[in-house]
Amino acid sequence: MEALGLRGEYKLYPLVTPAGLVDLCVRLRSGRLHGLNVTIPYKQTVIPLVDRLTPTAQMCGAVNTLVMDGDILVGENTDLPAFLNDLQVRMGSLTVGTALVLGAGGAARAVAAGLLQSGWKVQVAARRVFQAQELCAELQEWTPEGYLSVVDWTPEDLQVGITQSTLLVNATPAGMYPLIESDPLPMDVQFSTELCVYDLIYNPLETCLLQRARANGNRTAHGLGMLVEQAALAFERWTGTVAPRKAMRAAGWGNEIA
Ligand code: NAP
Repeated sequence: MEALGLRGEYKLYPLVTPAGLVDLCVRLRSGRLHGLNVTIPYKQTVIPLVDRLTPTAQMCGAVNTLVMDGDILVGENTDLPAFLNDLQVRMGSLTVGTALVLGAGGAARAVAAGLLQSGWKVQVAARRVFQAQELCAELQEWTPEGYLSVVDWTPEDLQVGITQSTLLVNATPAGMYPLIESDPLPMDVQFSTELCVYDLIYNPLETCLLQRARANGNRTAHGLGMLVEQAALAFERWTGTVAPRKAMRAAGWGNEIA
């Protein structure tokens, strides 16, 4: 806001109970707030509180941005387009093919939904296989048969999944501060140099997985671009103004991101 000379503030509203979320929605409806981001663990909890979901939020089954459209409280999801936009920026010439997504939580769902929308075939691997099965079952209605599959979390199956893929996306917190020594993949899983590796983690900027991929000659991308982009897209929904991405990125670097 400062970079654009806009008045206002963007601040944290810690929620002690889910009732606090209801109160924030009342403030949005009355115009006392102009927008709201929602994060873990409220991205699903907030759904019954909105009047309308955008198609993207519907496909993701999660809302991270709330905005008023006249009298209507709209639930939006900017994680999905943020991932796709940043993937395009980082890995521009990437041909649509098969991707392996690690993890089956909220971020994995946005990533898988985005890739499917863009024509990718998506394989999902999660250490609790039923979580990956559930995610695939929920996304199945949005995509043709054969575009979604589950990979078992065993070194052998992960190796097969990676060998079939040109894009690997880590949507688990393995490697994120403070567990920076952890790597979501067993060390004996090999990457071909054609594989592009995108890690949603942004703290640290280079996780063990990305270090390993870079040392192997793979193209890599960290999650800071997606983080900035999801915020930029939300800002644009609230203000109708093009977000100052450079200033936002600089703010991210300057603060808590190591
Ligand atoms: P989430 O809903 O808690 O899901 C995490 C997933 O990772 C679950 O499937 C979980 O399985 C799995 N997992 C956790 N620890 C693991 C480990 N050590 N090895 C293998 N799998 C593991 O979290 P989320 O919201 O999807 O976020 C996932 C990551 O993405 C976080 O690091 C978050 O910071 C990052 N993220 C980044 C952005 C961005 O803008 N760059 C946006 C959203 C999220 P279990 O349920 O079995 O633990």
